[in-house]
Amino acid sequence: MTKPTTTNTGIPVESDDESLTAGTQGPILLHDHYLIEKLAQFNRERVPERIVHAKGSGAYGELVVTNDVSKYTKAKLFQPGARTESLARFSTVAGEQGSPDTWRDPRGFAVKFYTEDGNYDLVGNNTPIFFIKDPIKFPDFIRSQKRLPGNGLRDHNMQWDFWTLRPETAHQVTWLMGDRGIPKTYRHMNGYGSHTYQWINATGERFWVKYHFRTDQGIEFLTQAEADRIAGEDADYHRKDLWEAIERGDFPSWTVYVQVMPVAEAEGYRFNPFDLTKVWSHKDYPLIEVGKWTLNRNPRNYFVDIEQAAFEPSNVVPGIGFSPDKMLLGRVFAYADAHRYRIGTNYAQLPPNQARAAEVNSYSKEGAMRYHYNDPNVPVYAPNSFGGPHADPEKAADGGIWDFDPTIVRAGYIRHAEDGDFTQAGTLVREVLDDAQRERLVDNIVGHVLVGVREPVLSRVFQYWKNVDADLGKRVEEGVRAGLDGSQG
Ligand code: NDP
Repeated sequence: MTKPTTTNTGIPVESDDESLTAGTQGPILLHDHYLIEKLAQFNRERVPERIVHAKGSGAYGELVVTNDVSKYTKAKLFQPGARTESLARFSTVAGEQGSPDTWRDPRGFAVKFYTEDGNYDLVGNNTPIFFIKDPIKFPDFIRSQKRLPGNGLRDHNMQWDFWTLRPETAHQVTWLMGDRGIPKTYRHMNGYGSHTYQWINATGERFWVKYHFRTDQGIEFLTQAEADRIAGEDADYHRKDLWEAIERGDFPSWTVYVQVMPVAEAEGYRFNPFDLTKVWSHKDYPLIEVGKWTLNRNPRNYFVDIEQAAFEPSNVVPGIGFSPDKMLLGRVFAYADAHRYRIGTNYAQLPPNQARAAEVNSYSKEGAMRYHYNDPNVPVYAPNSFGGPHADPEKAADGGIWDFDPTIVRAGYIRHAEDGDFTQAGTLVREVLDDAQRERLVDNIVGHVLVGVREPVLSRVFQYWKNVDADLGKRVEEGVRAGLDGSQG
């Protein structure tokens, strides 16, 4: 038998269809509190959209460790044979909630591990690098990729203006304009921790690490023409693909690797290992297998499990830590701050964000929407004489530590022997891409620039690509000039 409709507090309601009015043509009555509850609740169904990574998809799964990396980290989730429940959220970056999945954009690759030592979040992307290297530029960069304030339109001229004025973007823009700038599906892309992190082993020895999640489905991409067509036909193409694959039991998986750099080697490495616009060459630091990460369970409720999921690089567990990567340090603040604004002070109590394998013994209390509360017999302050939790440095996450010159400066990154804004972008173009990939790279850049990029930005665009690679730059300029002539002819 169908259950009776009730108010939010369980009181049976009179009608699902008719509002209470004074006569059939009279005004609606204010004391129709059920109508008011319904409209008011509806008005509040949305939480603020994420400024970046607004359009997302996700699923639950697990990490199984297949190798022994215990000499590098004591983190429990990476010990041989460990199995850890996990949540993933994939996303585009600049588009809003309803935007097409197949726009050219990096993809967010955020992973939460519910470990015995609390939640560990690895908030990465599908690219090993990023556009900028200092968080002070992040709001500028994102605004340049979003919409003009006047007409609310996206604007390629604004994007290229920023990119060409900040040449450290060249590596990531090359990557973005290449095939991997539009993955075929979320299952067919790699994930990267991107930042340099710290691993600490049981004896306290420290290493710098980079994470690589290599897709077991193989890398596949969409051409610009395919992506444009799909954007019109099915804006949720990637979301649907991930959901349907998991529903039919075709669980996507990624093999997890790390690159490991002994701390003593960082200073002499040919690239600054903390600069997020650079990779560590695989030849210098080969990938070491860690385990298999599989997604095998769809969310039961998209809003609850995925929209309310809060990933934060500040969530590191014992055996893992931060590094002098300034983008990482900026994000350690910014993510938790964004969550407090977006989904409230007590966001860690929401189902996807709750610790699942660890006990929470925090002194946090109260605040909006609090529904877990501390044992009333445990004091709400520390220190106390009544058996409340007690900080234990032996058990603590100890990753905030490294050696540095304590002089306070605004000085950018220390330059290493082969650092340069265009070096690794040039390597990607000349040594990794084949002729067909280079051809598509030129076409993608030309097509993008032809959408409204004008002087003085245009001349800088040509020089930018000549700095990456002389031949590439020449081909971009020829292609754009031919396109401009064609549009005027
Ligand atoms: P390698 O030749 O050892 O590695 C090149 C790597 O590039 C591949 O292993 C693959 O990484 C990735 N790759 C392959 N095709 C493409 C593509 N079309 N677009 C983007 N990336 C691709 O050389 P290095 O490690 O010395 O790196 C050379 C260049 O490769 C770098 O400048 C960087 O641009 C790019 N790269 C390097 C990565 C690294 O961590 N070292 C990671 C990704 C790109 P994967 O296995 O991760 O798919």
